[in-house]
Amino acid sequence: MIANCGEIALRIQRACKELGIATVAVHSTADADAMHVRLADESVCIGPPAAAESYLNIPRLLAACEITGADAIHPGYGFLSENARFAEILEEHGITFIGPTSEHIRIMGDKIQAKETAKKLGIPVVPGSDGAITNELQAMKIAKAMGFPVLVKAASGGGGRGMKLARTADELDSAVKTARAEAKAAFGDDSVYLEKYLTKPRHIEIQVFGDGKGNAIHLGERDCSLQRRHQKVLEESPSPALNAAQRARIGDTCAKAMQKLKYRGAGTVEFLYEDGEFFFIEMNTRLQVEHPVTEAVTGLDLVLEQIRVAAGGGLSVKQEDVTFSGHAIECRINAENARTFRPSPGTITNYHPPGGLGVRIDSGIYQGYRIPPYYDSLIGKLIVSGKSRTECLMRLKRALSEFVIDGIETTIPLFMDLVNEPDIQNGMYDIHWLEKYLADKPA
Ligand code: ADP
Repeated sequence: MIANCGEIALRIQRACKELGIATVAVHSTADADAMHVRLADESVCIGPPAAAESYLNIPRLLAACEITGADAIHPGYGFLSENARFAEILEEHGITFIGPTSEHIRIMGDKIQAKETAKKLGIPVVPGSDGAITNELQAMKIAKAMGFPVLVKAASGGGGRGMKLARTADELDSAVKTARAEAKAAFGDDSVYLEKYLTKPRHIEIQVFGDGKGNAIHLGERDCSLQRRHQKVLEESPSPALNAAQRARIGDTCAKAMQKLKYRGAGTVEFLYEDGEFFFIEMNTRLQVEHPVTEAVTGLDLVLEQIRVAAGGGLSVKQEDVTFSGHAIECRINAENARTFRPSPGTITNYHPPGGLGVRIDSGIYQGYRIPPYYDSLIGKLIVSGKSRTECLMRLKRALSEFVIDGIETTIPLFMDLVNEPDIQNGMYDIHWLEKYLADKPA
């Protein structure tokens, strides 16, 4: 059973079908016409549009499992994918959760605990407060010792929320207050911690995989530095900033850490990379939106590996069997205006996706489909791959020029502009590049 919707529900179904595993789709009333429902072997409507009443509603998901006799649940990303309580309930009910143990989800879900754990496992972390800050005086002392600017971050943070920058000592008190209030409202937990604010890092993350018994490997990195509001917009592998030796070194550090942890399933160890050094920021204990770029350069099916591990079959490859070839880039296609990023739900009147060698589209949309306004604005992903980064960029340009989605606004025009930017072509961008670019070229 796939406890998700949209492109990721379809992605998981595809892997199941190739493995000969029957699938159950769940959906809200808003998604009755969605492709993931149409292509599943069985489907169950689990409630009204509001996610709390459907995709996030654990009793309803359990009921759907019971009715259909599903014996495993893949949570996709978002929704309940990093909810330790959900994983624990499934463990208690003897339903296989296709993901790590609830204990590992819980540890990594608290960013303070995650950083402590990473440190113990030998992973280099961003300098910051050791644990949550308890009062203003202590926060000021730590920040001054570290040096401004500092970033106030929520322990339960996610999606870039509960994160506030203090450039100087004057801004610290208000940054702490705002971060606390935002975190309390979004996550019901107002604990915050401090981190040194890096001024020109790249976001580089390592894909890891463990069998839960102490075997673990890495599948290289993804560079996700092109971001808006701390959210990824375009991802690529390999990173233009790393060479094979650097990749092997950081990959090995992460794989060893996962061996010690006896980590099970897919995970992503996220780093900021500045002046040749890696600094851990967090770990995601699930499949990532950008996993296809790793699939493109390794030739591995990450969802298949997740299912294998969950079924007790272990990983299909050893570290020495993993090879990296060529280059891949993913563009997140959102139903949004490409400049203002205002959401643009509605009916797709005309749809023609690009094709050809090295082009992959992961999307559940089709002509006549009405995009509901309730969920994530991500409506599809365009992934292109080629022998070199240059070939990949030319292919991306070609694929974008073929892409037709009428009736709604999408972020395709933004990518058409970006592929022509010299900095993008040269791979010379950090996590602040896109914000500056958008500020210089307003709507
Ligand atoms: P979330 O879980 O909310 O996505 P992360 O800790 O993963 O938060 O950080 C998201 C993004 O925020 C990073 O990719 C980076 O762009 C920015 N960021 C996080 N920590 C720092 C830091 N210490 N210095 C500079 N930027 C940071």
